[in-house]
Amino acid sequence: MNRTSVKAARLESSIGNTAKVSGWVRTRRDSKAGFSFIEINDGSCQGNIQIIAPGELANYEDDIKRLTAGCSITAVGEIKESGGKGQATEILASEIVIHGWADPETYPLQKKRHSMEKLREWAHLRPRTNTFGAVARVRNSITNSIHQFFQEDGFLYVNTPVITASDCEGAGEMFQVTTMDMEHIAKQQIEKLNYKFDFFDKPSFLTVSGQLEAETYACSLGKVYTFGPTFRAENSNTSRHLAEFWMVEPEVAFNELTDNMDLAEAFLKRMFADALKNCGDDMQFFNDRIDPDKALISNLESIIGSEFVRLPYTEAVEILENCGQKFEYPVDWGTDLQSEHERFLTEQHFKKPVILFDYPRSIKPFYMYCNDDEKTVRAMDVLVPGVGEIIGGSQREHRLDVLEGRMKEQELDIEEYWWYTDLRKYGTVPHAGFGLGLERAVQFATSMSNIRDVIPFPRTPGNADF
Ligand code: ATP
Ligand code: MG
Ligand code: MG
Ligand code: MG
Repeated sequence: MNRTSVKAARLESSIGNTAKVSGWVRTRRDSKAGFSFIEINDGSCQGNIQIIAPGELANYEDDIKRLTAGCSITAVGEIKESGGKGQATEILASEIVIHGWADPETYPLQKKRHSMEKLREWAHLRPRTNTFGAVARVRNSITNSIHQFFQEDGFLYVNTPVITASDCEGAGEMFQVTTMDMEHIAKQQIEKLNYKFDFFDKPSFLTVSGQLEAETYACSLGKVYTFGPTFRAENSNTSRHLAEFWMVEPEVAFNELTDNMDLAEAFLKRMFADALKNCGDDMQFFNDRIDPDKALISNLESIIGSEFVRLPYTEAVEILENCGQKFEYPVDWGTDLQSEHERFLTEQHFKKPVILFDYPRSIKPFYMYCNDDEKTVRAMDVLVPGVGEIIGGSQREHRLDVLEGRMKEQELDIEEYWWYTDLRKYGTVPHAGFGLGLERAVQFATSMSNIRDVIPFPRTPGNADF
């Protein structure tokens, strides 16, 4: 007999079917009338299914009545209409098999609600909680939408390297890749395995962005996106930064900055609309349990249904200077905006997402297109309420002479980037792209306040054990 998911067994249309469901026990209650109610969840949906275990089952007294939270079981039985609140169906079990016990003395996920911080200590078990199950399903929906959105629009998915020599962002936030430490490897082992320690004869790093490589494919194949793990050795303990995160980076030949904004806006709206459509129960859960005041669903709906604000950086600085708000960091033309400034713009001033563009060239990387004013570059950041920057992008500098000038200005070794400048030597075209941090998108969709809680195993300074 095939297994039925809890999600399918909960549907009213399955009443009358015989089903086999498997999962982990959430609760067990025994009735005085000699049977038990066992709630199980299998990760397929937010809800549980209630199993009714009659006292006549052969293993009722010895096993079923010992079930506690965390035990894993399979139940076979008929799906019945349920009189219980919040559930259309339940299963009257004719057989229950117990796969694994969970010692109630030590199983960490008992009835008590733990804080998010505490749950991080059990990153291997936290997906069994309602919150982390919901996060995983919404993250999956967003990942799926990312591929669908670009695939439907004719983009090619390209895989850019994880190991690279170039610091795309020029921020010096790279993890260096080293070969194994000789001291830690026994001599014979080295001989046996024939390690080659000279493979990385020059410094190599983990990628901070696949953009430069994605540009090469865009400048041959038109529309591409790369989507993979990205690493930043930033020693920042914020609720929005990870040392390892996932970034999706589309890159489009012949696009300019406004096309890039259009793409970013349509892309974000599609992801959030899909999450609302495909993860209804989970989104309702976030709406009700995590953040009831913020009206998550209606906010997302209004964001999907209205146009984002598009505002030049210079005008944003004017707004911030004249708003009368006291900021911790002063606002000054020529410096990057801080999270408090971004939040003011999206949460208090406009109350919707804002695309800021035309940033000062002095604070942006070498590859961004220089405007005629020579002071600004065609950069854009998409800012959303609650999270701040969710996307960073730009039109790329496609004029060889200007690009080389910028590289000199930023003291980059032009020779090292010969492959990148080649794109400007042979059939150069305007092109543009952006990077979206997957975890920031999940944070925004779910209103989870800390980025560490929207990735299965968060990597932050000093935290890479498991
Ligand atoms: P921030 O200003 O928040 O540090 P950034 O400007 O350094 O971000 P970009 O280089 O523009 O980031 O990267 C593109 C996107 O990648 C960002 O808009 C954000 O969504 C995501 N991102 C960047 N750094 C991190 C990080 N450390 N952890 C998680 N996501 C990140
Ligand atoms: Mg940064
Ligand atoms: Mg930024
Ligand atoms: Mg940025």
